[in-house]
Amino acid sequence: MSFKLDILAIGAHPDDVELGCGGTIAKEVAEGKLVGILDLTKGELGTRGTPKIRAMEAEAAAGILGVMVRENLGLPDGFLENTKEYQLKIVEIIRKYQPDIVLCNAIEDRHPDHAKGSKLASDACFLSGLRAIKTDIGFGEQEAWRPKNVYHYIQWKGIEPDFVVDVSDYMDVKENAIKAFKSQFYDPNSKEPESPITSKNFFESVDYRAKDLGRIIGVNYAEGFTSERYVAIEKLSDIF
Ligand SMILES: [Zn+2]
Repeated sequence: MSFKLDILAIGAHPDDVELGCGGTIAKEVAEGKLVGILDLTKGELGTRGTPKIRAMEAEAAAGILGVMVRENLGLPDGFLENTKEYQLKIVEIIRKYQPDIVLCNAIEDRHPDHAKGSKLASDACFLSGLRAIKTDIGFGEQEAWRPKNVYHYIQWKGIEPDFVVDVSDYMDVKENAIKAFKSQFYDPNSKEPESPITSKNFFESVDYRAKDLGRIIGVNYAEGFTSERYVAIEKLSDIF
């Protein structure tokens, strides 16, 4: 069974979406939009946790954000490549859910999978619109579908956004969704090895980045995105 989504958020690792655009997703869900998440890998190279634990955490986080569906392609963590094979796997998901907007990884980042996942998802969005590329996931030939817009959320590096979304009323939902990934982030009682994302500073940085982006637009919290093309608006009053 499948249904059309308004927004599909794609991340290289389970938790990328929550950290990068969890507030925006919670806000869109509250507005009645149908949102789904596609994780490209199971995050099996992560310093803490196991793929099984992360899958359970991802399911819990999806419930907190209120998304309709969360899928995982099981591509190899750490070795994402922009290949035809991986592009087609994403094309199948895009055609299955027909999202109008795709949110994907940061265009450049500390973790090499982020930039690779970003380009891979973006290329798949384009290719998905080409009728000559045939795909079938067991229900006959899929219809070609190209999302109207592809935006990239910001992750580790402080990339300058092209636009920001006010998420002031949804920061608590975002933080709860991130906390669902208990094995991954700051936990003073954990005996597992430390990594850059397990520090208290990292957890706090999610809050202060959103505060800083919010400050610039005059609200409490915001999330930033980059766009591959100009962001079009109906009228000037849409901008606040
Ligand atoms: Zn990641």
